[in-house]
Amino acid sequence: MHMIERWATVATATGLIDDDGSTKPSIFSEMSALAADTGAANLGQGFPDEDGPLWIREAAVAAMLDSQNQYPPVRGVPALRQAIADHQRRHYGLSFDPNSEILVTAGATEALTAAILAFASAGDEVLTLEPFYDSHAAAIAMSGATHTTAPLRPTESGFRLDAATFRAAVSTRTKLILVNTPHNPTGTVLTREELSVIAEEAARVDAIVITDEVYEHLTFEGATHIPFATLPEMQSRTLTISSSGKTFSLTGWKIGWVCGPAPLIEAVLAIKQFLTFSGGAPLQPAVARALTEGDNDVRELRASLDERRVMLIEGLTKAGFDTVRPEGTYFVCADATPFLDGEVGDGGAFARWLPEHIGVACVPISAFCRPGSPAAHALRNWVRFTFVKDEATLRTACERLLQLTRA
Ligand code: PMP
Ligand code: GLN
Repeated sequence: MHMIERWATVATATGLIDDDGSTKPSIFSEMSALAADTGAANLGQGFPDEDGPLWIREAAVAAMLDSQNQYPPVRGVPALRQAIADHQRRHYGLSFDPNSEILVTAGATEALTAAILAFASAGDEVLTLEPFYDSHAAAIAMSGATHTTAPLRPTESGFRLDAATFRAAVSTRTKLILVNTPHNPTGTVLTREELSVIAEEAARVDAIVITDEVYEHLTFEGATHIPFATLPEMQSRTLTISSSGKTFSLTGWKIGWVCGPAPLIEAVLAIKQFLTFSGGAPLQPAVARALTEGDNDVRELRASLDERRVMLIEGLTKAGFDTVRPEGTYFVCADATPFLDGEVGDGGAFARWLPEHIGVACVPISAFCRPGSPAAHALRNWVRFTFVKDEATLRTACERLLQLTRA
């Protein structure tokens, strides 16, 4: 395929091309820019406005001053691979060989893209839940495979997977199933029953399962994150992906990892070594220490996020939104239907109107859906707010949102 055509395929699949052919920023960059221009409280792009623990940052500074500034090994520094192996065993009872079954990557994003490029190509189908995180769709488009989806639907008990619809979306061409739990943007933590349906289907069509577990430690209300690889007989077909960004509020460090059976890791490595080769030399030993000694910091982050989650849900409810309570991540999805009219006719228009008129930024759920899909239609009026912002910002946002009911 000609290069320009190939780019157009990716850009169209991800909605990243404008009518004049120029590259559009991602929805997250667009909403952050709009928030900055209008002075809005930015509950759009999901990044914390407080840095991760000082001792972890000091560990990175120490490594930098200790001459750890040249290319690290392509698989990642041994201390970090060992720390990841220990983390998987301690939290989930999963065992991985740090020499052959763990790869350190440039964030979860690189792990996801390299894994998708390694195992999917034209003629294959890659199945994700819908809504889905934006980079998943982009990587699938880059691979040339067809992106198929199964919806998560809003219910009294959160956005849930419908087993029959999911099974119907799986075909013999389904080479990869991408499972994101805790799920961005819905906040769903998939239950054992839901994961079992996915496991049965993966086994039936012999698909590889790629998981995106970057919010693994950010769960609330007693919800427990279940790594897909812990389901019976699933470890042998699963690539488990996570990252230090969310767990330690270090999203700009981009230290992620992928764990799985050696032959699958070998294939991901083949791609990864020509995407970035390696990176983050002084950051890797610091993340190794964070994973080993940082459980308390993670507990504190979870408790503080839980308070902010409750505050945002209350604020949104008071302002007149219907919300779905998230059990994980740092996002709340809300139905903006009560505030729509002829001019501001759907969630996308609402999200672009809100910063200037009310002083709050959010993200439309349509950005996480395929244009024209049943999920996109069902969620066309929905938007996502993040609560990973300081209390003052959240309070300001909640007060401003009250103007919606007064308007
Ligand atoms: N997956 C999901 C579901 C995310 O929300 C994010 C964003 N932060 C990522 C992957 C990207 O992770 P990283 O920054 O480690 O590349
Ligand atoms: N994961 C973040 C979110 O969902 C965004 C990261 C990005 O801007 N690429 O808001």
